[in-house]
Amino acid sequence: MNRKKSETLYQEALEHIVGGVNSPSRSFKAVGGGAPVFMEKAQGAHFWDVDGNKYIDYLAAYGPIITGHAHPHIIQAIAEAAANGVLYGTPTTLEIKLARMLKEAIPSMDKVRFVNSGTEAVMTTIRVARAYTKRNKIIKFAGCYHGHSDLVLVAAGSGPSTLGIPDSAGIPVSIAKEVITVPFNDLDSLRQALEHWGEDIAAVMVEPIVGNFGMVMPQPGFLEGLCSMARSNGSLVIYDEVITAFRFHYGSTQTYAGLDNLDAIQPDLTALGKIIGGGLPIGAYGGSKQVMEQVAPLGPAYQAGTMAGNPASISAGIACLEVLQGEGVYEEMERLAVKLTDGLQASAERHGVPMTINRIRGAFSTHFCDHPVTNYEEAQDTDSEAFAAFFRHMLDRGINLAPSKYEAWFLTTAHTDGDIDATLEAADESLRLVAQ
Ligand code: PLP
Repeated sequence: MNRKKSETLYQEALEHIVGGVNSPSRSFKAVGGGAPVFMEKAQGAHFWDVDGNKYIDYLAAYGPIITGHAHPHIIQAIAEAAANGVLYGTPTTLEIKLARMLKEAIPSMDKVRFVNSGTEAVMTTIRVARAYTKRNKIIKFAGCYHGHSDLVLVAAGSGPSTLGIPDSAGIPVSIAKEVITVPFNDLDSLRQALEHWGEDIAAVMVEPIVGNFGMVMPQPGFLEGLCSMARSNGSLVIYDEVITAFRFHYGSTQTYAGLDNLDAIQPDLTALGKIIGGGLPIGAYGGSKQVMEQVAPLGPAYQAGTMAGNPASISAGIACLEVLQGEGVYEEMERLAVKLTDGLQASAERHGVPMTINRIRGAFSTHFCDHPVTNYEEAQDTDSEAFAAFFRHMLDRGINLAPSKYEAWFLTTAHTDGDIDATLEAADESLRLVAQ
């Protein structure tokens, strides 16, 4: 496949944009380097690059594009919003509508506040939890990524680990000291951390289903144990559902029928992003009335945003959720994901390539290893070179995956059986080459 124009544009981008990319996860550093592909057009499940090559897309822009690219309902909503003025700096009725939709789907949120990104949403939940508990430290789980704010960029997942910077430069040690990191799915370690730091812990923050070192389910009892231990310690529970909300069903992990005992796993605060903006910049956080009343203008925890709740993002979010309310939408994504993962596993076996696949409904991760992946350590202990080779062979055959062994494949409402068949054909050939 000829990607000469992408290569030329990458050289030009390097002159002007740091690293040639506006987010490090877009760079090909973790898969052997070189020019990332410059895409020119996207429609449904497909991309066309600047050289005219066509791709089937499983990146879904790292998650938000669950309805496929340029979905007509979302495009119309954005166009109407733009025609009415892109930014008001005043309240609008649209914000109430999306807030209601979120609350109906995620009942632990009595009150919501919109922000501009998942990073902002998470960052603010921590501030609110600190304000509410009057404590400073938080516990997080190794490999979970919660955006790039100082406090949570410690032992973070996909992006930073791919680049080998578990702690970013520029974060004062004094801030990193406010974060305690324990392994995911390990209640004993959490218990020990809570016993040790006790009354210093403002919150336990978790991706309740992990999306940042592959897709990893909480083991039975993990979220119940986490919530009950945090509560008896007087700490809040924060769920980062930036990836998981509206991903597996119309709701979030805390309403996911695949988990037992939902009453026992309700968080105090939830951070959202990605899908709820239908592809435009957005974040949101919410929680119980009592906790959210800490936020300005009602309470002492300050948080603000010029662009927050802008009509285009909110309209795109509403439109996206409306599409997801359609009959059988999630079942169809799951059906295609099952077909795809069954085929991938069969090809991997045929060619003798060890592969563990973690699938949760329409999203999954492929790990080049022969052991289960239930925590970050196990996700790290996988064959990076085999992944890099697989990624490149797939790209050359027109399949667009994230350039990181930790990122998920996302099915969208736009993928078809034809896309899956073509992907499996490319994967079989790619895995044959990986095995050589
Ligand atoms: N939280 C999780 C679980 C994420 O996966 C991400 C981004 O990938 C974020 C927070 C940060 O969101 P954003 O990139 O919108 O700032």
